[in-house]
Amino acid sequence: MIAHLHAQEFPERARDALTDGPLRQAIARATDTIGDRRAKAVLEIPEWEELREQARAVKAHTLARLDHYLLQFVGNAERQGIVVHWARDHAEACSILGDLAAAAGAHPIAKSKSMVTEEIGLNRVLEERGLRPVETDLGEWIVQLAGEMPSHIIVPAIHKSRQQIADLFASKLNVDRTEDPAELTRIARRILREEFVDAGLGISGVNFAIAETGSILLLENEGNIRLTTSLPKVHVAVMGVEKLLPRLADLEVFLRLLPRSGTGQRLTTYQSLLTGAKRRLGDEGPEAVHLLILDNGRSSMLRNELERETLACIRCGACLNACPVYRHVGGHSYGSVYPGPIGAIVTPQLAGIGAAGELPFASSLCGACRDVCPVKIDIPRMLLRLRARAVAPSPGESARPRPWSERLGFRLWAWAMTSASRYRLTSRLARWFHGPLVRFGPLRAWCADREPPRPAPRPFRDLWEKGSIQ
Ligand code: SF4
Repeated sequence: MIAHLHAQEFPERARDALTDGPLRQAIARATDTIGDRRAKAVLEIPEWEELREQARAVKAHTLARLDHYLLQFVGNAERQGIVVHWARDHAEACSILGDLAAAAGAHPIAKSKSMVTEEIGLNRVLEERGLRPVETDLGEWIVQLAGEMPSHIIVPAIHKSRQQIADLFASKLNVDRTEDPAELTRIARRILREEFVDAGLGISGVNFAIAETGSILLLENEGNIRLTTSLPKVHVAVMGVEKLLPRLADLEVFLRLLPRSGTGQRLTTYQSLLTGAKRRLGDEGPEAVHLLILDNGRSSMLRNELERETLACIRCGACLNACPVYRHVGGHSYGSVYPGPIGAIVTPQLAGIGAAGELPFASSLCGACRDVCPVKIDIPRMLLRLRARAVAPSPGESARPRPWSERLGFRLWAWAMTSASRYRLTSRLARWFHGPLVRFGPLRAWCADREPPRPAPRPFRDLWEKGSIQ
């Protein structure tokens, strides 16, 4: 299950977003900038395609033998003094994490950006237990202040303009209003530094977990993850079962692909490879390290060879920046913590097709997501498969509700296309009534800004039969 899910509201939310000028401007500007940077960074590596193939092969191999690598990883992590917890679903995960946070006492909880903790709705659960989680990634902190969800998996506050952030800081933090990004950052840094000093527990995500050493790798640009994982006495890392890589050497491929795909950087500014808690009194780092490994629907995805591919995602966000739908409607329209093309395939698989069957239809199937994906996930193929499941669900799943006009339209289409004579008749009708159909038919809104294709005056079949085509 995914927390705070409103995926079935996609059509209404998208319609609202399309009329929100500042939102569309903010998203277009940011995704254009990141997209251009990515394209330049990719051009620097002539063997980019080979790297993508390698990454895909490593992920496919790991996912096919995930049970083996998970056990190897956990054995090695425990030998390094990490306390490992397993959680079947979001409720179990939140309960374990809530207990660990409560045990740390009445201190703020420093949190670094983690999609999986968004997925389980951890912040709200901690708040309900009287605890105070503080997001320390600047973008996450902004959306937390605003009481919103992140709208992008790499750039959580991508939907906000500088002016909106200035208003937010002035109203929530009691500071003088400024639109200067450097000054806004200074304000955030000053406040967050104090939270770090007081924090009794740090919660982070995991970018990669290495089976052969029991280490976890965290990537970031702001330095807040370093502080989250080293200043508080206890560090808790949270990861989905799919984060594993077999060997340390495998990182070489992913560390070249991920930053370039995500932000167009050659390397992320900080790369923290953590292997257990501190061992001696004078060492730096937390006194205790816990690791929570979450399933939450992933093992059922693993059972199916095609769906398993979704678990190869390294959460770089490149498919969001390239997607024409995401770029127009933004992340909140998807009503899920996972927006964009990856969200359209991951959300229905984790939450069930009945709860998110609208999302696979939020795509033009242009294939831009597949072209930029560093691990070559065939997102369009998966979208089609999920669309089929949404209209003809397996036993136990509920079907996506479809408006009567869509059902009638497809029935008429099937009726016309399954007989040669009916096909001829409808082609003829389309030629005769093309003008009124465009002006008054169900496609009139679509045709208002576009030139619809005009049927040929004489069909190819007639020309062929009459020998006009050699
Ligand atoms: S599906 Fe591919 S492009 Fe999209 S976030 Fe995942 S790894 Fe990145």
